[in-house]
Amino acid sequence: MSDRSLNLDDTLYQYLLDHSLREHPEQSALREATRTHPRAQMQISPEQGQFMALLVKLIGARRCIEVGVFTGYSALSVALALPEDGYLLACDISDEYTTIGRPFWQRAGVAHKIDLRLASACLGAGEAGRYDFAFIDADKTGYDDYYERCLRLLRTGGLIAIDNVLWSGAVARPAADADTRALQALNDKLHRDQRIDLSMLPLGDGLSLARKR
Ligand code: CA
Repeated sequence: MSDRSLNLDDTLYQYLLDHSLREHPEQSALREATRTHPRAQMQISPEQGQFMALLVKLIGARRCIEVGVFTGYSALSVALALPEDGYLLACDISDEYTTIGRPFWQRAGVAHKIDLRLASACLGAGEAGRYDFAFIDADKTGYDDYYERCLRLLRTGGLIAIDNVLWSGAVARPAADADTRALQALNDKLHRDQRIDLSMLPLGDGLSLARKR
């Protein structure tokens, strides 16, 4: 019995990957292509991608949102989990980063499910209640706004996954920088927010799940 989550050392983390990871070949190739990128740490971990794919299937999601695409690994993971007529609205501001991912989406046969929009404000309110799943992984000071927009766009029972909520541990210490303060404020807000059911997971850099009530 344990009263807290396990710390994974390198050996145990490798065991976890060796005994659970089921990547599509294009997912492995995209990770490899991103490995040497100067901002490679912005990519989600492969077990997180697989977990989000499982969530998408569990809730029967057909219409998803991603805020913050980077080189496209999480979008690829979600798109692979969606049914053939599924739809992922993928928002980012960087053409440079997303250009890296697009050929992998093509080769994996899921590019037709991904609607990439290069605009910071692609989450209009016109489709309220019409989405099933949202993943927020963009600029941290924008998180609260993205959360509110995604909550409006989700149906009841829909799920929002929010990345980096533990921020390498910085959220548990007094914060000097705007990113950490924004994450602390959002974590506090989610804890009290009666519009959602909540779970904060120590997966990757911390992943909060908010289910719309
Ligand atoms: Ca992230």
